Amino acid sequence: PEDLAWQADKNHFIHPYTDFTTFEREGSQVISEASGVTVTDTDGRTYIDAIAGLWCINLGHGRTEIADAMGKQASRLAYFNTFGHSTNVPASLLAAKLAERAPGPLNHVFYSTGGSTANDTAVRLIHYYFNRLGKHAKKKIISRNDGYHGSTYFASALTGIHGVHLGFDRISQDIVHHVSAANLYRRPQGMDEAQFCDFLVDELQQRIHQLGAENVAAFIAEPVMGAGGVLVAPAGYHRRVAQICRENEILYIADEVVTGFGRLGHWFASEDRFGHVPDVIVSAKGISSGYCPLGATLFSDAIHDVIAVPQAPGGLLSHGFTYSGHPVSCAAALATIDIIERDNVLGHVREVGPYLQARLKELMRHEVVGDVRGDHLMAGIELVRDRAGRVNFAPELGAAHKVFTAARKRGVIVRPVGNVIVLSPPLVLGKADIDRIVDTLHEALAEVSPALLAG
Ligand code: PLP
Repeated sequence: PEDLAWQADKNHFIHPYTDFTTFEREGSQVISEASGVTVTDTDGRTYIDAIAGLWCINLGHGRTEIADAMGKQASRLAYFNTFGHSTNVPASLLAAKLAERAPGPLNHVFYSTGGSTANDTAVRLIHYYFNRLGKHAKKKIISRNDGYHGSTYFASALTGIHGVHLGFDRISQDIVHHVSAANLYRRPQGMDEAQFCDFLVDELQQRIHQLGAENVAAFIAEPVMGAGGVLVAPAGYHRRVAQICRENEILYIADEVVTGFGRLGHWFASEDRFGHVPDVIVSAKGISSGYCPLGATLFSDAIHDVIAVPQAPGGLLSHGFTYSGHPVSCAAALATIDIIERDNVLGHVREVGPYLQARLKELMRHEVVGDVRGDHLMAGIELVRDRAGRVNFAPELGAAHKVFTAARKRGVIVRPVGNVIVLSPPLVLGKADIDRIVDTLHEALAEVSPALLAG
């Protein structure tokens, strides 16, 4: 069947987020097996997976403990719904474990199937919350340019990456409003970090004022922007934004789909890394170490106590998915949490994360590298044609894609997004793996730089 896969894929599989010009030419690379930090394709070539599948295989590939937990659960109870008054053992136990690990008052979880549905859930239930408080005008959501929040119709409306909207319609423009990304590298000329932070906070305040605080329900942000190019906000940014939200009765949604479950060395980054407690945390990906689809939206006691209490007869919290609290996904998440604790994975990330960031800084030696940035095990390398002027390569040059191809040829898979090369390796990688990734990037950059600079 592996021989048939390539042709079957080319004929019938519409791939997500795919450039069909290169797809027509090359078809897909069929990944057929994986172990630890490596994946292998059907031609027998093995690569270091420096993107953890897609920011998700946090504990690495081929963990039989997770697979066995899923298998056991599937044999015992593969599925029964959680609507109304049914539940299952893994979903219930996981809810308690999430509450223990989330910041203080975030004690209640609504399950979905991934990051997009978890973000949709956050907004839909926040609207419901304000409706129940009689604040029917509180509908608007402030998001940020370059933020990525998913691909369902509403999550894509929250998304602020320009390219995601090309050729599509953009619904909810009356609801979703975008402010600037906290992009330190592209901050207005002449501002230092603290001034840029003031600038962003002022902009948000002005936008709330324009929209009317009484009309704004929530602000949503990733603690560190991922797909938008790995953007680390100026010091104090999230805390100050959270304070403004509190003053205006605007709920703060932290989209921790990527930053949660250890990527920044903590269960969740909002409180432990950035010093604020959001009202809602959105989680997916690493929660099940990518072994099974799962989304979890965590709500504070204050929100829970409005949305999940007895209502007038006939009242029903009409939101949910067939697979809310899927037993097999929740079993994968429970096994993931056990391994993170048993193997002190968070401590390991706190040790190897700074090593990765320090070694990546060496890439600044290549003229085409304008910026190297990140936090623990998320990193972005931005390519520029003119470092002094911070001028990007024209998109049609596919600069980051060329580096991706040159690195893959040498056995390392990274991810090109726009002009940025993104890294988000499995959390369990060692320093030797980091050395191999960085050395490969040096070689790949050396190979493609002359043609890029000449072109
Ligand atoms: N939020 C963030 C921060 C993400 O990075 C992603 C996916 O990359 C999503 C939401 C959407 O998650 P999903 O693709 O599981 O729907």
